[in-house]
Amino acid sequence: MNVGPQSPTHNMTDTKTPARAAPLVAVKGMNDILPPESARWEWFEDKVRSLMARYGYANIRTPIVEPTALFVRGLGEVTDIVEKEMYSFEDSMNGDRLTLRPEATAGIVRAVIEHNALYNGPLRVWSNVALFRHERPQKGRYRQFHQIDAEALGHPGPDVDAELILMCRTLLRELGLVEGRDVRLEINSLGQPEERAQHRAALVAHFERHAEVLDEDARRRLHSNPLRILDSKNPAMQAVVEAAPKLMDFLGAASLAHLAGVRAALDGAGLPYRINPRLVRGMDYYNLTVFEWITDHLGAQGTVCGGGRYDGLIEQLGGKPAPAVGWGMGIERMLLLLEALGRQGTTAAPDVYAVVPAAEAMAAALPCCEALRAAGVSVLMHAAGKDGWGGLKSQFKKADASGARHALIFGADELARGEVAVKPLREAGATQHTRALAEVANWAASLRNA
Ligand code: ATP
Ligand code: MG
Repeated sequence: MNVGPQSPTHNMTDTKTPARAAPLVAVKGMNDILPPESARWEWFEDKVRSLMARYGYANIRTPIVEPTALFVRGLGEVTDIVEKEMYSFEDSMNGDRLTLRPEATAGIVRAVIEHNALYNGPLRVWSNVALFRHERPQKGRYRQFHQIDAEALGHPGPDVDAELILMCRTLLRELGLVEGRDVRLEINSLGQPEERAQHRAALVAHFERHAEVLDEDARRRLHSNPLRILDSKNPAMQAVVEAAPKLMDFLGAASLAHLAGVRAALDGAGLPYRINPRLVRGMDYYNLTVFEWITDHLGAQGTVCGGGRYDGLIEQLGGKPAPAVGWGMGIERMLLLLEALGRQGTTAAPDVYAVVPAAEAMAAALPCCEALRAAGVSVLMHAAGKDGWGGLKSQFKKADASGARHALIFGADELARGEVAVKPLREAGATQHTRALAEVANWAASLRNA
């Protein structure tokens, strides 16, 4: 058979075999999420929505595309994201430089400034975002990925820092994960810009003394962004990285007090954590508190959630100075972790599968299914496929596979009497019975799953 673009001339002249185009595939590193996998996403997102409501975080939605300058200014020019991971392009209409958002915070801060949203006081917001980074795709690392993002703007902390961390713990618990065992918390303080400047000078001096072991990346960053060298994963540099001066030793009284405040709150809540003086985050905007939730079950992609304080960012992006703190949680990684630990979440089974043996039954089946749905019963109604209605046996197989608790059978005999048969599919010993179609409102609720 001739398919695809290889033989266009032949296809154009051959009237018997219609031309079929070669199928297109998704962009590398960008995934489709189909059922039943999508049900796990919805299950996760439902948990998040309920969590945010209980913590008083309101939903915010900002555009996927932003001016490139937002991320260059917000994240810092010498970061992995800005240097090599952004999907940037020119708007063909007007030449504007645009970027698919690689992270959530900068866009949210832009929106908050643009709409003067801190005018009436602090703001707690969350978002479910698709993000884009041109990374090497692998398990837990994609070019389009998704995050739950939470931000508290206008609070100096450390109380709200702790609240955000504890909010993560609550979510982890509600997903069936145990903190300290399945996922552990690491925190650090990045201090303030002046303290970092002193540390940075000491760091440059240290790395200059060991210039011979630095790789190309590190050498390039030595004077532009030496802090990022600490983030290097190059094994040949680990010893020199280990021996580097620690920022913690350069922190002043106020920064240390802030960290102590976060620690006291976490200790008070009984949440174990490790102080990791090497913890630096991928964006330049962080100060004071930074933290990560890490798992040992996902190999190199072990960070499932990361965040911290960014008191300078709002001003840096042109807003009235205000402190802020937030985190981002990778949805794919969380779902991979839950899968690795055998916690799959619920799959969405309908309450009822409607068995419709033939086209003649539709006149009764359709309004009955509509009435059930209006009464809150979820109904998966059998519909004809390309080969017709399918026999009863195959419909019952589908009813069973759907996970529905009941089958409703719109058989001709029952319909002639104004009735429908109800067959319990999951309870051993329960027997089939009939119900009057005219009274569906009275028995609908009995089909709803508890
Ligand atoms: P990593 O060190 O793994 O690259 P990161 O520091 O770049 O992570 P952030 O930008 O802080 O990550 O994003 C927070 C979370 O988003 C990460 O902890 C992770 O769960 C998720 N994440 C980041 N990049 C990706 C990606 N390319 N694919 C899937 N999830 C990602
Ligand atoms: Mg990264």
